[in-house]
Amino acid sequence: MRVRVRSAWRNHTRNQGCDPLRLSRPESLEELVELVREAESASVTVRAVGSGHSWSDVALTAGFLVEPGGLARPLALEPELLRDEVDPERLARCEAGIRLRELNRHLDTEGRALLQMGGYDAQTVAGVLSTSTHGSGIDLGPICDFVRSLDVVASGGAVYRIEPADGPTDPEAYAARHPDRALVQDDRWFDAARVGMGCLGAIYSVLLEVCPRYWLREVRTLRPWGELREELRGRELIARHRHFEVYVSPYSLEDEDSCLVTTRDPTDEPARRPRDRERNSIPEFVAGLSITPHVLNLIFDLRPALTPRLLERALGALADEEYTNLSFRVLNIGTANLLPAYSSEIGVPVDAHGSHIEAVERIKRIAARRREIGSVYHTSPISLRFVRSSSAFMSMMEGRDTMMIELIQATRTEGGFELLAAYEEALYDLGGRPHWGQVNTLTGSHDLIRSLYPRLDDWLEIHGRLNASGVFDSPFSKRVGLAVYPREGVIG
Ligand SMILES: Cc1cc2nc3c(=O)[nH]c(=O)nc-3n(C[C@H](O)[C@H](O)[C@H](O)COP(=O)(O)OP(=O)(O)OC[C@H]3O[C@@H](n4cnc5c(N)ncnc54)[C@H](O)[C@@H]3O)c2cc1C
Repeated sequence: MRVRVRSAWRNHTRNQGCDPLRLSRPESLEELVELVREAESASVTVRAVGSGHSWSDVALTAGFLVEPGGLARPLALEPELLRDEVDPERLARCEAGIRLRELNRHLDTEGRALLQMGGYDAQTVAGVLSTSTHGSGIDLGPICDFVRSLDVVASGGAVYRIEPADGPTDPEAYAARHPDRALVQDDRWFDAARVGMGCLGAIYSVLLEVCPRYWLREVRTLRPWGELREELRGRELIARHRHFEVYVSPYSLEDEDSCLVTTRDPTDEPARRPRDRERNSIPEFVAGLSITPHVLNLIFDLRPALTPRLLERALGALADEEYTNLSFRVLNIGTANLLPAYSSEIGVPVDAHGSHIEAVERIKRIAARRREIGSVYHTSPISLRFVRSSSAFMSMMEGRDTMMIELIQATRTEGGFELLAAYEEALYDLGGRPHWGQVNTLTGSHDLIRSLYPRLDDWLEIHGRLNASGVFDSPFSKRVGLAVYPREGVIG
């Protein structure tokens, strides 16, 4: 196992960083177990990280940081350990540090694909599960809903395979092969472990449900926001498409108030195989504005008053586009992910009272007020994605169909973080749940987390088993009140 000391760790945007005691790169399950045991005996905490694509502090540690690169391979399925009724064609096993990008490529060579992903593919499998990363589609849950089994190294170096009660592993075959490991087939354990923010142990491997390779056709249409807003109160339009997303400007201009609707639906394989990139958001975005993203950032900084008009133009430039390709190429929105930006994202219930519509209107009011009083601007369109309810206890989608509101800011936005905090506070009483992996100001005070997550106590009970010693505590888990902390003399 490669171990480094006196090395800093930074996330991909470099808005988060820490100086862990050690950065370790285990290459096997045994090395991961050894690392957790060593940390516990030295009273140091452990945090497994992914590819650092969280804008929040969720991956930080002052203890031992576990890098993902040595545990990033596709794994054999081991069909002899599965129950007879399981269809092996619909399952794929991999080490948890593999990035979605490499997993997609691997599955494609087998003529298979992930059923769902978010708008990017540079994150690791463990990373996207742990924060309840999602895409769009009111009949598709977050990515953690496509997990069928997890192998986790817990407190004491104990290895657990965690599955729902009807999980795919054959208990007898597993016990015979791995007498030193525990198979837990229990819905509560499974619903806790799928979204653990790194606090429920280090995930070694994952069994995912997959499907045969498929093609998607993406269509983008400009609509007046006032008109679409009323249609979004009902579910009919949202449920008509496999994927449904909206970009809306935070500003209502007198002459223009449009939004961009993106739909993606399965389609037949095209006669001519498309190139990997025939649609790319940033070139379109930039083409519409005739400037590069960095110049754009500079304008947001130096001439912020131009922002509302620029955003309106950007939406217009992205409209009337069609794009057909393999599912994972269409779902990845491409180089838009490389914009110098940071983001927060808040999930609100899609309900009959129209809480989700009120949430957007509130955000627009806050943006307008901050602009009027302090010349503070929101420097990107607001993204709305509809996601099916999940049973994972700490998922933002737990127990309710959800509209995720993504609030992106160019890095040079003056007052950008303060604006995001204002949105977050304003949405709590509409049931707003901030994305664990994106900028948030959640605290452990006033029982805030309990008020947001009705199944918190179930999660904490399993947390108490998997993190009995507090070895998976972190600055993040202390901030939001999930840690076993305080414990005397523990580093990290
Ligand atoms: C450009 C960009 C695009 C994005 N697009 C989307 C999107 O479309 N939808 C969406 O919902 N989010 C999106 N996000 C947010 C992102 O998906 C999440 O923050 C995700 O958790 C990052 O994964 P990662 O592999 O980088 O993990 P990290 O950010 O490194 O870690 C995230 C969490 O996972 C835990 N973790 C990582 N590995 C393990 C392991 N082996 N065992 C236990 N815990 C582990 C860490 O401890 C931490 O708590 C985006 C972020 C960026 C920067």
